[in-house]
Amino acid sequence: MLTERKSLITGNWKMHKTLAEARALAREIRLGLPVKARLEVALAPPYTALAAVYEENYGSPICLAAQDTYWEKQGAFTGAISPVMLKDAGCRFVIVGHSERRQIFGETNETVNRKLKAVLDTGLCPILCVGETIEQRQAGRTLEVVTAQLREGLAGITGLSGENLVIAYEPVWAIGTGLNATPDQAQEVHGVIRRLLAEMGAPAQSIRILYGGSVTPDNAASLLAQPDIDGALVGGASLKADSFLKIIASAG
Ligand code: PEP
Repeated sequence: MLTERKSLITGNWKMHKTLAEARALAREIRLGLPVKARLEVALAPPYTALAAVYEENYGSPICLAAQDTYWEKQGAFTGAISPVMLKDAGCRFVIVGHSERRQIFGETNETVNRKLKAVLDTGLCPILCVGETIEQRQAGRTLEVVTAQLREGLAGITGLSGENLVIAYEPVWAIGTGLNATPDQAQEVHGVIRRLLAEMGAPAQSIRILYGGSVTPDNAASLLAQPDIDGALVGGASLKADSFLKIIASAG
């Protein structure tokens, strides 16, 4: 990894953890966090636990992330949460376009684009997720799919920087399946994403590109050693402090 980009390890807790469990996990992670200058850590609990995790980590270097957002600031949108509310709750990052949002909740590159604009307008940093399904990979369409997700997701957005955008490459076939991309497979796509960002006029060398998909303490070091892998978005292995802290220890 180039020295100008700090590693970012983000835990996506998905629809897990009661308030008491979230507080306990956040505390264990905070107490076990190594001091590393070139490392950032973020936790994305469910909405209901954002405030509790914020309180638990207050004064520590751990950042708060949301798992999703709506694109409007406020209004009659029952069940929705806006970026303004997420900022108010202490978030710095917002995951946008996670494959579970795309596949289960029908999100498209267009809705992802609206969310990205709203998150950026609010001064938060989106973590834009892209990645192909197994059928798309087997049909040789990985780069085409990822390119479209990136181009359409970021359409009309200017002023990008290493401070206000993070990309996560998450092959859908690797999420929650125990099948991770090999370091070479991941590096190939990360390299393409960085070239695309440069073609789109963004400061590609400053923008962090995380890998996500069955990252574990056993495979984290070899993935994070790749030149264009700047961190990890971790689902299952972030639900226990022990495994998440081991992944953090391999970064930075
Ligand atoms: C994710 O949810 O973004 C993810 C990568 O999950 P897992 O680590 O469980 O594959």
